[in-house]
Amino acid sequence: MVHFTCDLCGQDLTTSADPRFVVKIEIAAGFDPNQIREDDLDDDPMEVVAELIQRDDTLSSEDLAALSPKGFRFDLCPKCHGKFIKDPLGRETIRLLDFSQN
Ligand SMILES: [Zn+2]
Repeated sequence: MVHFTCDLCGQDLTTSADPRFVVKIEIAAGFDPNQIREDDLDDDPMEVVAELIQRDDTLSSEDLAALSPKGFRFDLCPKCHGKFIKDPLGRETIRLLDFSQN
């Protein structure tokens, strides 16, 4: 039997009668790192290709990892689900933390 717990509060969702909510977050770069820019079109096409290859070389594996799409999946209990949909990015929490530091 697959065991589910709430990823926020740790409540056991396997045996409880509460429904389980699944949150899926997908993150992808909002730009294409290999996109040919308009300025590039004025140049010699072979040079542009060479530049693109060079651009790839200058990207570290960390950069490439940051550019590749990522997915997150969380199980939430109804209580945490309710909190999550009100503030999916935790902006309220970040704001409160900022205040307490001042
Ligand atoms: Zn929870």
